Amino acid sequence: MMLTPVHRFRDIERKPEYLQPEKCVPPPSRASLGTMWFIRDGCGIACAVVTWMLVFYADFVVLLVMLVPSRDYVYSVINGTLFNTLAFLALASHFRAMLTDPGAVPKGNATKEFIESLQLKPGQVVYKCPKCCSIKPDRAHHCSVCKRCIRKMDHHCPWVNNCVGENNQKYFVLFTMYIALISLHALIMVGFHFLYCFEEDWTKCSSFSPPTTVILLILLCFEALLFLIFTSVMFGTQVHSICTDETGIEQLKKEERRWAKKTKWMNMKAVFGHPFSIAWLSPFATPDQGKADPYQYVV
Ligand SMILES: [Zn+2]
Ligand SMILES: [Zn+2]
Repeated sequence: MMLTPVHRFRDIERKPEYLQPEKCVPPPSRASLGTMWFIRDGCGIACAVVTWMLVFYADFVVLLVMLVPSRDYVYSVINGTLFNTLAFLALASHFRAMLTDPGAVPKGNATKEFIESLQLKPGQVVYKCPKCCSIKPDRAHHCSVCKRCIRKMDHHCPWVNNCVGENNQKYFVLFTMYIALISLHALIMVGFHFLYCFEEDWTKCSSFSPPTTVILLILLCFEALLFLIFTSVMFGTQVHSICTDETGIEQLKKEERRWAKKTKWMNMKAVFGHPFSIAWLSPFATPDQGKADPYQYVV
């Protein structure tokens, strides 16, 4: 395949003689490898904490304002179990999305030894990121928040305080899906609760005073509606970009396709794991992506 990336990227140096490996600091010692991935970004951490607090607020209203005071025991147990299971899965997906290395390229690996070890043929193109001094695999982009090059970077999401990339996209998609589901479930329950309270005496349908109950329910309604719209749009966009195998950045930059076209089903499996199973819905199952060699370059 021919490649003409001349003016497509401004942050790359194309020719091996311009790579200047002597300017790169050797990669940090292996000690940092075993440590957990966590981005120290104040804005991202604040957004992540707000996300958990919003889920806890919704859980508080659902349980203590609506379900516990309800006299229909079966209705309360079924809805309480369903809501808490989905909320737990949403938070678990959030943690996995936040704490999984999205596919960071080793920092400072553009050393003389590494470039020599790639055994480049004359005229072969490699990309170096001048910001983190790494040799970029194809489809990797530099994230200024993570300060790293991320393989198949889609976007940096402050709500999960991490980049969404090759290794954590599954958890991010599950996070948006479970948030959309709990939002929808909460909206339905609020609807039923209002109907129930209009028929009954307001003082009997909640253990809080009627004004407090109404305020708590209306706030939950706003929250659920907002997040239902936001996360379901995000979920749809993500599934679409997985099926077409084009990341958010590639869509924005209108990059020409340099990678092989695969079926939608194969693209889904590449993100959610192979073969298709219930594990696709589990934030605890690490997808077996059967990764291709990240250092494959198109010449
Ligand atoms: Zn970089
Ligand atoms: Zn990032």
